[in-house]
Amino acid sequence: MKNSATIIPVSNSDCQVNSWKSQLKTAFSCAESLLQYLQIPAEEYHQLIDNNPNFAVRVPIAFANKMSKGDINDPLLLQALSVQQENIEISGYTDDPLQEQQDQRPGLLHKYHGRVLLLLTGSCAINCRYCFRRHFPYQTSRKELNNLESNLNYIARHSQIKEVILSGGDPLLISDSQLAELIQKLEEIEHVKYLRIHTRLPVVIPDRVTANLVHLLANTKLTTSLVIHSNHPNEIDQLTGRKLQQLVQSGTAVFNQSVLLKNVNDSPETLQLLSERLFQYQVTPYYLHLLDPVKGAAHFDLSKQFASKLMRQMRSRMPGYLVPRLVREEPNQPSKTLILS
Ligand SMILES: *Cc1c(COP(=O)(O)O)cnc(C)c1O
Ligand code: SF4
Repeated sequence: MKNSATIIPVSNSDCQVNSWKSQLKTAFSCAESLLQYLQIPAEEYHQLIDNNPNFAVRVPIAFANKMSKGDINDPLLLQALSVQQENIEISGYTDDPLQEQQDQRPGLLHKYHGRVLLLLTGSCAINCRYCFRRHFPYQTSRKELNNLESNLNYIARHSQIKEVILSGGDPLLISDSQLAELIQKLEEIEHVKYLRIHTRLPVVIPDRVTANLVHLLANTKLTTSLVIHSNHPNEIDQLTGRKLQQLVQSGTAVFNQSVLLKNVNDSPETLQLLSERLFQYQVTPYYLHLLDPVKGAAHFDLSKQFASKLMRQMRSRMPGYLVPRLVREEPNQPSKTLILS
């Protein structure tokens, strides 16, 4: 499979680079401008929206274009619009539900056997309202995230690490040339065999999947995979789908993880459509996460009982390979916790 990459042209890469970077710069950064673009009268919803949230709004136009105009309940809009409900304090929902802020080693998380998360940047192309990282002190920790050399040394010293998972924030916010440099350094560490990238960018700005990126992943000796994050079938339009399929066809396994979110994807029909849409482009459903109990996101939460019932409904409708694993992330566990139903 890897060799087929040579058929993918590397031309046009410069204008692609400009395009995804400029889409980042021009992203919507407040609720009002986003609503205006969607032809939703912000005045009518002034009690609902929060136009000055602690966790900023960030929505690139390519993602906004996947929302339907005029619909305040659009499932993609609900994921990105800052609302007053986020300011309600509810016990049990905390700033750091996974207790990751206390980790000793800035920029690296080694919690599970054989694999590490390498955190390349604190920011993302979109700010998802339900994200457990919404309270992380990214601005102050920016310097620490540049701890890369030392983290690579850590990986080199721990021969049980087979897989390096690029995460963040969104690791695909770094440029293709920075990524190429990093891949080269990882290739030099003999025990590292697998490279995985956890990213929402192919969904948020499909143009981020440049010909160069495809080429890079196809040509490393590391076995590559990419785990995207999408929650609703409308996120997987034809452009995103084609980009993901390019990656698959050049030898990178592509998986999807979702978060179960009230009013966004809380029906078996929606989740089935999502799985089918992914599979149409050769992407495999991987995880369905229960919401992390983060402060400001309680209005997205659903009970474990509800989630288990959804899983049973999905299993009765779909082939097993289209049913994601229902999991929850718990502090101090050797893996994600599988929820059986
Ligand atoms: C989710 C996660 C991983 C990857 O887990 P898989 O089950 O292999 O997908 C690795 N490290 C940390 C800290 C994680 O949260
Ligand atoms: S892309 Fe992922 S890490 Fe970034 S805000 Fe959304 S859920 Fe959080």
